[in-house]
Amino acid sequence: MRTAAQYFESLRARKLELWVDGERCESPVDHPKVRPAMNAIAATFAIAHDDRWRGLATAHSDLIGGPVNRFCHLFVEAEDLVRKIEVQRVLGRLTGTCFQRCVGMDGINALFIATHGRAGHARFVEWLRGVQERDDVLNGAMTDPKGDRSKRPGEQPDAYLRVVDRRPDGIVIRGAKVHQTGAANSHHILVMPGQALREGEEDFAVACALPVDADGVRMVLGRQPSDDRRGGPDAGNARFGGQECVVLFDDVFVPTERVFLDGDIEACALLVDAFAGFHRASYGGCKPGNLDVLIGAADLVTREHGVRRASHVRDKLVEMAHLTETVHGVGLAASEKSTRDASGVWRVDPVLANVCKHNVTRIPYEVVRLAEDLAGGAMATLPSLADRDHAELAEALAPIYGSEARAKALRLLESMAYGAGSVPFRIECMHGAGSPQAQRIVLERTLDWDAKVARARVLAGLDADDALGELE
Ligand SMILES: Cc1cc2nc3c(=O)[nH]c(=O)nc-3n(C[C@H](O)[C@H](O)[C@H](O)COP(=O)(O)OP(=O)(O)OC[C@H]3O[C@@H](n4cnc5c(N)ncnc54)[C@H](O)[C@@H]3O)c2cc1C
Repeated sequence: MRTAAQYFESLRARKLELWVDGERCESPVDHPKVRPAMNAIAATFAIAHDDRWRGLATAHSDLIGGPVNRFCHLFVEAEDLVRKIEVQRVLGRLTGTCFQRCVGMDGINALFIATHGRAGHARFVEWLRGVQERDDVLNGAMTDPKGDRSKRPGEQPDAYLRVVDRRPDGIVIRGAKVHQTGAANSHHILVMPGQALREGEEDFAVACALPVDADGVRMVLGRQPSDDRRGGPDAGNARFGGQECVVLFDDVFVPTERVFLDGDIEACALLVDAFAGFHRASYGGCKPGNLDVLIGAADLVTREHGVRRASHVRDKLVEMAHLTETVHGVGLAASEKSTRDASGVWRVDPVLANVCKHNVTRIPYEVVRLAEDLAGGAMATLPSLADRDHAELAEALAPIYGSEARAKALRLLESMAYGAGSVPFRIECMHGAGSPQAQRIVLERTLDWDAKVARARVLAGLDADDALGELE
């Protein structure tokens, strides 16, 4: 398994085409806007070599006959799903942001299920073996630009990634994937369809893998609010950050051994469904970890303000913790209530996984509101820490900033609430793994409404109680 240092070394070996703010970035590892997100991924490697977390962060893989980082692992035991949520919570707390390997992890598991019994399965397993042996980072690439959402892919092909040529030795893909978490920090792109497709849309039904520096691949870094603060005194999160990129595919050739699904509509539906379940439960791990940090920063400010013991302050902190554990509890429950797929991979409970993610589209916003309440206005109005540290201003400003702990906790809160940290925290809570309506659609489709009506009819005295029969 890679160490954090080996991870950075491996990134330097890539010939990635990355654009940042209108300029070609020659060394992503050293770029102040890119590096914090790499640091967050590096934490996933670091904990795998640390006795405190090794048990959670690693697993045994039968595929390679040895230990693997959990982010490359298949959920071959029911416990793997639970450990995933637990390690996500740890990393969410250690980094305070998105550590970017979950889409890839959930993607390989969904693809294992979707390719099972199909021609591409052996090719996929062979590729995955290499990923596990090297401990690679995957950019799970599903979301297409989509253009006019009321139109199908065939009506606007440029808005969806698709196969534009099929050759004896592989395929050629064209298009883009957007909002790509950690793409510039990855070794491979795992291309998957972003939605269920219909007959006639076979060219869009493609799942394949390619190196991030394959010919024809270009990446453009997404902007985040206050991202110019990175590396400076007002960054908020001093070490870590998230990252999303637009990934452009300009007629990229993918050899057959890296094509796992091509034109198989049914398999793509399976893939999207399995991925949605895994990834919606994942939010019950990482986001509670991020919320731990937010609560900690709010708590710290109240201590520095001398109000920590006030009853309403204690009550608000308890409320924040209660909401956080509610999210975590449902993520764990979805993973505990699992079932074994025919492929051998364990699947989460779809209803609870969707409830988990749906909670995440709401609850963190309330926790942020409470943090803003407790922090006071300074989280939004404090001048730069560079002003505080300037010789001409330091003495006059010292009482304005208060302690170092207060000033830095306020900056952290600011970043998570609406600065650079809010992208991988809040906006990801809303749209990552699908916008709220996507979860409501699954809930409506999955729940057994007739069973509820049937029981209500019995208890209302309309029908006989066949379930319990005579009780005497
Ligand atoms: C921080 C972040 C990280 C992400 N990371 C990844 C990643 O690593 N990999 C990846 O593949 N994707 C990633 N995503 C993408 C994520 O899955 C999408 O944002 C999500 O699926 C919503 O798609 P969208 O952003 O295009 O919004 P839209 O689909 O445009 O949704 C916006 C609104 O329009 C509504 N809407 C959409 N279509 C219709 C329709 N046909 N009819 C009626 N209403 C409609 C939605 O319900 C929603 O309310 C990430 C997103 C974010 C914000």
